[in-house]
Amino acid sequence: MKISHIEHIGIAVKNLDESIKFYEGKLGLKCYAVEEVKDQKVKTAFFMVGQTKIELLESTEPDGPIGKFIERKGEGLHHIAFAVEDLRNALDEVEALGVELIDKVPRKGAENMDIAFLHPKSTNGILTELCENPELNDE
Ligand code: ZN
Repeated sequence: MKISHIEHIGIAVKNLDESIKFYEGKLGLKCYAVEEVKDQKVKTAFFMVGQTKIELLESTEPDGPIGKFIERKGEGLHHIAFAVEDLRNALDEVEALGVELIDKVPRKGAENMDIAFLHPKSTNGILTELCENPELNDE
């Protein structure tokens, strides 16, 4: 598998609007997109930092994955996402190496990315996402 860069860092927050204010007002970053991902019960906000994005995640329902995460651990770093060229192959490859997968096949995430999560049991406790931008491969 070839990882090209850190695509984004996901941060669980209780209040998206308040957090956007922090990132814009105090860190001087600009939120360029807010998007709800119904499937994941989250609202996301994106900031570009060089080649990498910050993805803020607020749960839209208490029983969603982010809601449960915050209940257990509080706000904070939720996941790290690596950009790969061929997600399907990358998943097969790491699975063959004994990595436990949460998603055995890619699904759709925010920004129309194809995404899949690796289980934190296999990744030193950090929920790890592999993602591929399908638009880059259509040409
Ligand atoms: Zn993500």
